[in-house]
Amino acid sequence: MAKILVINCGSSSLKYEVYEMPEKKSLGKGLVERIGEGVGIISQESLKGKHSEEAPIPDHRKAMELVRKALTDGKAGIIGSMDEIAAAGHRVVHGGEFYAESVIIDGKVLETVDKCSELAPLHNPPNITGIKETINLLGKKPQVAVFDTAFHQTLPPAAYLYGIPRELYDKYRIRRYGFHGTSHRYVAAEVLNMLKRSEENTSVISCHLGNGASVTAVRNGKSVDTSMGFTPLEGLVMGTRSGDIDPAVLLYLLKRGYNEAKLDKLLNKQSGMLGLSGVSNDMRDIEKAAAEGNKNAQEALDVYAYRIRKYIGAYAANLPKTDAILFTGGIGQNSVSTRAKICEGLEGIGIILDPKKNEATGRKAGIISADYSPVAIAVVITNEELQIAIDTYDLAFKK
Ligand code: ADP
Repeated sequence: MAKILVINCGSSSLKYEVYEMPEKKSLGKGLVERIGEGVGIISQESLKGKHSEEAPIPDHRKAMELVRKALTDGKAGIIGSMDEIAAAGHRVVHGGEFYAESVIIDGKVLETVDKCSELAPLHNPPNITGIKETINLLGKKPQVAVFDTAFHQTLPPAAYLYGIPRELYDKYRIRRYGFHGTSHRYVAAEVLNMLKRSEENTSVISCHLGNGASVTAVRNGKSVDTSMGFTPLEGLVMGTRSGDIDPAVLLYLLKRGYNEAKLDKLLNKQSGMLGLSGVSNDMRDIEKAAAEGNKNAQEALDVYAYRIRKYIGAYAANLPKTDAILFTGGIGQNSVSTRAKICEGLEGIGIILDPKKNEATGRKAGIISADYSPVAIAVVITNEELQIAIDTYDLAFKK
C-alpha cells in the first residue's frame, strides 16, 4: 500500500489529489487558484471534510506550502504527515518526441521537459515549477512525469506529418503531437473492460469532449491518429478554440491589421462555441439558448456535432473495423443531447444509438448503442489523475 500525490500544475492554479495504491482509492483532492494574483484560495475535500483558506499566494512555492498545510490539517487533512506520501506523479503537457511513456523524473528528464517548453510555452514551465516545488517538499522520494503527448507517439508518419516542406519537420519538429493522451489512454482501456474485450484486434474511437476536445483512433491499444496537432488548437470546434480552419484565413487577417497576439487571442479565446454562438463557451448555456430559439446557438451545436462526425468517419475509414466509439469529458459524460446529435446519421457506418439507453445512462458510464449495432457506443468517465497515480505507482514500486 502506498500513498501517491498527484500534481497538475498550471500557471495560476495547482490541482492535487492523493491516491492509495494499488487500491486506486482517492483519499481527497484540492485546488489552489489565483497564484500570483493578489489574494489566492486553496480548497480541499477529504474523507474527513472540507477545508478552504484565502491567503496571498505570490508564487508556486507558497502554493505548495499551503498544499502541505491543507494535506496535513488536523481537522480536515488527507494524511497525518508528509512522510506518508510514498511518491508523486505530475501531469506534464509536452514531452515532444522524447517520451512515448511516463518516466521517473531525474535531472536529465527535467532538462528535456525544459527543452520541450518551446513547443508548449504556456504549459511546460509551470509543470516544471510544480515538479521542483514537489522535490522541495518530498526530497528524494520518486517522482514521475506523465505526458499528455506520450500516448500519441505511436502515430505513424502518415498521420503525424503535415503537408509542408520536410525541412520544417527536420528543423523545428513541426508535426502532429496530439494531446489529452492520458485521458484517451485511460478511457480506451476502460471501454475494453466494459466490453470484456482485449486490446488485440480491437479498434476504438475515443471522443474526449470537454472545454478542450479531441478525437483519437486507438488500434490494438495504441493511438494511431488524433485530432489535436502541433498544438491543442487543431481539430474539433471547442469551447473557445476554433479547431480546423483554412490557414489562409490567418494570412487574410494578417493583411487586415491582425497581428500575432490578436490572432492568438482570436483562435484560442474568442472562437469555437463562444465565437459561433455569441452566447457562451459552456455547452449548457448554448443548449438552453438553442432550445429557446437562438439561431446562432443552434448553428453552433450543428457545427460542433458535424465536425465530430467528420472525424469519426475519417478514423473509421482508416481502421480495419471499428469496435467501439466512446464519449468522455464534461460534455461527453453529461450531455445526452450532444451524444444523440453526434450519432445522428452515423447509422450507415454501423454506429447505431439506442435513444432510451442514452437517456437512462445520463451522466453515468454505460453502453448506449442498440443491441444490434455493429459498433458499440459507450459513455466512459475519464480520470486522468488516477491514470497518473497508476503510472507513478507502477514505475516507482513495481519492478
Ligand atoms: P476541461 O476540458 O476544462 O477539463 P470538462 O471536461 O470539465 O472541461 O468539461 C467542461 C464542459 O462540460 C463545460 O464547458 C460544459 O459545457 C460541459 N458540461 C458539463 N455538464 C454539462 C451538462 N450537464 N450538459 C451539457 N454540458 C455539460
